[in-house]
Amino acid sequence: MRLRDLLRHIYVLIPVFDFRKHYWIGDEEVEKLLNHGEGWLENHPAKVLITRRYFNKLGRLTRLALDRLDNGEGGVETTMDAAEETTPDGIAAIMSAAAENETFPFRLNTLRLLAVLSELKAGGVHSVIDLGCGEGNLLQLLMKEKTVTAIAGTDVSLSALERAAEKLKLDRLGEEKKPTLFQSSLCYRDKRFKGYDAAAIVEVIEHLDEGRLPALAQVVFGGAAPRMVIVTTPNAEYNANYPGMEAGRFRHADHRFEWNRAQFRAWADAVAARYGYTVRYEDVGAWDEEKGSPTQMGVFTK
Ligand code: SAH
Repeated sequence: MRLRDLLRHIYVLIPVFDFRKHYWIGDEEVEKLLNHGEGWLENHPAKVLITRRYFNKLGRLTRLALDRLDNGEGGVETTMDAAEETTPDGIAAIMSAAAENETFPFRLNTLRLLAVLSELKAGGVHSVIDLGCGEGNLLQLLMKEKTVTAIAGTDVSLSALERAAEKLKLDRLGEEKKPTLFQSSLCYRDKRFKGYDAAAIVEVIEHLDEGRLPALAQVVFGGAAPRMVIVTTPNAEYNANYPGMEAGRFRHADHRFEWNRAQFRAWADAVAARYGYTVRYEDVGAWDEEKGSPTQMGVFTK
């Protein structure tokens, strides 16, 4: 290898192997990584690991850099795309590896969707509606499941639904395989929410003002009332583990609140009691003895 190329590898890999990169990391670091990684990092098998460690696990910059290394292909990793149908054992193995190892090369969004998928499969559901489906990442996974025969996704944002339709290549699918996509708000009763075995509400409740949550609970648990509901939301306690994140800040500019585990459980317990469900709690992502996991999940069954 030419000395010049070797030095570019070493430039990137020193901070990757040295966990303590103390100086302030600014946006120009993304350019540096892309420049020095050009020609080798795009196709490196440990690309995600190297990028995460280079930024010392700073979520935003890691995502920016990965999105650019992947030519803007965000969302679910290619390894997941390649999978025909995910096996419960395969998902369980991924989840427990991730809980033990913070540098595990799946992004949190993927882990979360796999956790939801695995609960849906364990619940034996055949039809699912994804409430606040965003760009359709969960729908994409569900479409690969042979046992799931009816799928719907809804979101209040039309542009998110357009991106979902594009990602799922709706215009090229036969009628029987096509998920139903429609615009709606979770705060208003809608009969199109009815008739599914399960509903998923993944990273949505924290986008609503807390005062709107009783309406959401009435619409989903009282009105649509599927036999299974899965809700995920950030665990605010875990935020202390994100370097560069100031105390009291939220992970996303549009979040109206982020709850600790006691707050989420108090809300979910009350909703379950009121609408006749039982609820079980699961942690998703790297496990911290004191602060729990980055994502908390409630699995409601009627
Ligand atoms: N579930 C997706 C997207 C989460 S982002 C995923 O996990 O990838 C939150 C989504 O909730 C956004 O797409 C936003 O448009 C949607 N949302 C916010 N308020 C909503 C409401 N009142 N009704 C329906 N969707 C809403």
